[in-house]
Amino acid sequence: MTNPEPLIIINQSNLSVDEARSLIESQAKPVSCVNKVEIRSSLGRFLAEDILSKINVPSHTNSAMDGYAINGNDIPTNAAATLNVTCTVLAGQPFNGKINSGECARIMTGGMMPEGTDTVIMQEDVERNNDIITIQACHRKGQNVRQAGEDLAIGQVILEKGHKIMPAELGVLASLGLSEIKVHRRLRVAFFSTGDELRSIGESLGDGEIYDSNRYSLYGMLSRLGVDIIDMGVIADRREDIQSAFIAAAENADVVITSGGVSVGEADFVKETLDELGEVKFWKIAMKPGRPLAFGKIKNAAFFGLPGNPVAVMVTFYQFVQNALLIMAGANIKPRLQLRLPSNSSFKKAPGRTTFIRGIISNDKDGKMTVCSTGQQGSGILNSMAQANCFIVLGHDDGPVNKGDIVTVEPFEGFI
Ligand code: AMP
Ligand code: MG
Repeated sequence: MTNPEPLIIINQSNLSVDEARSLIESQAKPVSCVNKVEIRSSLGRFLAEDILSKINVPSHTNSAMDGYAINGNDIPTNAAATLNVTCTVLAGQPFNGKINSGECARIMTGGMMPEGTDTVIMQEDVERNNDIITIQACHRKGQNVRQAGEDLAIGQVILEKGHKIMPAELGVLASLGLSEIKVHRRLRVAFFSTGDELRSIGESLGDGEIYDSNRYSLYGMLSRLGVDIIDMGVIADRREDIQSAFIAAAENADVVITSGGVSVGEADFVKETLDELGEVKFWKIAMKPGRPLAFGKIKNAAFFGLPGNPVAVMVTFYQFVQNALLIMAGANIKPRLQLRLPSNSSFKKAPGRTTFIRGIISNDKDGKMTVCSTGQQGSGILNSMAQANCFIVLGHDDGPVNKGDIVTVEPFEGFI
C-alpha cells in the first residue's frame, strides 16, 4: 500500500470471509501525508491529530431559559415566596454585582449567572408585579442552568485522531474557536472496467454487449467515502491497453480497483499484466456472491480486482474494500453495525461459506422489525441491490434458515 511492506498474502482457495477481511485490513496503512486545512475544508475527512479543548464550552455558567436567576436556597418549601428583582442580565452582557438572599436577577437565555445565584425559574412560572416576583414551591435547586464546560471541558480530548469530520464535528471545532486542523489528505482511487462485452453509456449495444454498470455503482460507493475518484472508463481486452491502464492508474492513485477478469478461465490479459507489474494474489473466497477476488499491490498502489458480476462488485466492495480504504484514509474503523432480526423468508444454505442475501428490513403490522429477501438472488440481478436496504448475512458455519429464525443483518446505511 502506501509504504512498501512485504505482502504476507498467499494464493488461496476457500479463504473464509473473515480471513480475507483480516488479511486485507492488516495490509492497509493510513496515507502519511497530512494537510492543515481551514475547518470547513475538513468535512468528510479524518483527523490526523487529537483535538484537545483549550477552553470550557460554554465558557461561563449561564441560563438555559428566559426567566429569573435566584439562589436555590430561596426556593420555598411549602407556600409561595416573593423575591426582589434587582437587575437584568442579557446574553453577552454580564452583571458584575452580587445577588443576595431574597433578591433575584431578570435573566435571558445564555446570560451569565450572577454571583449568588445557581437556579433559574422560567418566566412562565413566575408572577411579576413591578419589581416583585412570586414563585411557587415546585422548583429544584440548580434547574435551568448550563454549567461552564458541560459541553466541552478544558483539557479534555474532544475528538480522537481518526475521527471523521461531519457537520456536528464542524460545529464542535468552531465552538472551540479552532480555525484550522490537521487531517489526512484525501485518498486517490482509480478504477476501470475490463471486458470486451462492455459498452459505456451513450454507445449503442451490439449483439451480446451490455452497458458497464460497475463503474457507476463503484462511483457511488466511493463518493460516499469522500475519496478522490479517477474514473478510467472501460479498458479493452488488449495487452497494451490493459498494461498502460494499470501503469497510469498505479502512478496516479493510492488504490486501483478493477471489476471483471479475475475469475478462473478468463480470456484476458489482466492476470498476465498483474504478474508483470505487481504482487497480486488471486483468491477464491468461501462466499456467495463474490467468490473470486484479486488483492495486492501494483507498484506502490493497493490493488483490488473485484469480480465482474454487478452484485458481487457491491458485496465485495462493502465487505473487503471499504474498510481498507477507510483505514488508508486515516479512519478509526468501528465494528460493523449488525442487527439480529427475525426472518420472514426461509433460505437453503449449507455450512462452509458466507452468504450475503439482499434483504428488506421493515416493520410488521405490530411495529415489530423483521427482514425478508428481495427475491431472486442471482449475482447479476443488480436491481435486488436497489430494492434492498440491508444484507442478510448467513454465517460461514450456518445451515438453512426457516421462517421466524433470527438472522444477522447489516443495514446499508451502517456501512458508512
Ligand atoms: P467476469 O468476472 O469478467 O467473468 O464477469 C462476470 C460477469 O459480469 C459477466 O457476465 C460480465 O459480462 C459481467 N460484467 C463484468 N464487468 C461488468 C461491468 N463493468 N458492468 C456490468 N456487468 C459486468
Ligand atoms: Mg470479463
